[in-house]
Amino acid sequence: PVAPTHTYRIAAIPADGVGPEVLASARAVLDALAADSHGAFAFDWEEFPWGCGHFERTGRMMDEDGLERLREFDAICFGAVGWPTVPDHVSLWGLRLRICQSFDQWANVRPVRFLPGVRSPLRAADAHALDWVVVRENSEGEYAGLGGRNFAGRGPGGEVAVQSALFTERGCERVMRFAFELARTRSRRKVSSVTKSNAQQYGMVLWDEVFARVAADYPDVETESVLVDAMSAKFVLRPWELSVVVASNLNADILSDLGSALAGSLGLAPSANLNPERRFPSMFEPVHGSAPDIAGRGWANPIGAVGSAAMMLEHLGLPAEAARVERAIAAVTAAGVLTRDLGGTAGTAEVTRALVDSLGG
Ligand code: ATP
Ligand code: MG
Repeated sequence: PVAPTHTYRIAAIPADGVGPEVLASARAVLDALAADSHGAFAFDWEEFPWGCGHFERTGRMMDEDGLERLREFDAICFGAVGWPTVPDHVSLWGLRLRICQSFDQWANVRPVRFLPGVRSPLRAADAHALDWVVVRENSEGEYAGLGGRNFAGRGPGGEVAVQSALFTERGCERVMRFAFELARTRSRRKVSSVTKSNAQQYGMVLWDEVFARVAADYPDVETESVLVDAMSAKFVLRPWELSVVVASNLNADILSDLGSALAGSLGLAPSANLNPERRFPSMFEPVHGSAPDIAGRGWANPIGAVGSAAMMLEHLGLPAEAARVERAIAAVTAAGVLTRDLGGTAGTAEVTRALVDSLGG
């Protein structure tokens, strides 16, 4: 075979629980595409054995020089992080959030889509209307890590903890512009901004003000500002009214889990942690966590991870290949090859095989 015209260097971080199971599936799909590209492109994988097992062996979630090594890659494929033996905030901050923050992956993009053959808790007609992208501010907000515990002199039972949220004008503006640019690429040109500015009067009010200012630069895009509690209801009751939803770190985290549940399962939802300036590699991962309750059984739904791989293809400049993966996912769910979370009986390997077999169609 001839040498591929372009080789993409991809870092794989399977990490914990079902992470390795679903990431293997994404790799199988990507490698099948490369094999079928007639030498147009190839993936050069390097796997990093980081996560909670690594923590138990070394006291660290990732190697000390890990970030420097990751910097050299075109993209990062991530599985899932977290295991009951390590406190969640330690594993999350020690690996996933560390990468997101160090590589300034400030836009977390989480599409929610109807898939044929998947039962949604919504009425069928409403489920068919599911086609949104949640854009999550991924660098500051409620997850900025600001605060502290053990304030002195409170006495037993009197401990106080403070958890602050950080909102910068620049941070708000860039993620909102990203959302507006994304809305311009979609058939429904609309951006819904989510806050809780009636109760949180500093950061969320700044967010609202910046949103109004940015919106003025996009007169061709419809806008609305909705409180997060009302937006939760709207997700369920009026899903057809949404296209791009932009929200702070915490609010978008919660809303995107709700969105993926409405689409049928947390196991279906893909996501991209993007550094839109491309100064650092971006990271692609399913929305779900490490699912310790089903890990190691071969039951995990790989579609969230495979959908994330499709988002990576788009990011690498291979949109036709991304569309092939999207079509394969829809073909496989339509054919009823479904994992247990979707009410089926197929295992991860069977779904993966079906996806690879459907890539041609
Ligand atoms: P995190 O804190 O990392 O977001 P979590 O505690 O919210 O994790 P998950 O690990 O995402 O939880 O799992 C939530 C539920 O969804 C579990 O019952 C799990 O089995 C199920 N689940 C998650 N991912 C998948 C998947 N890929 N396939 C099938 N079921 C899944
Ligand atoms: Mg979760």
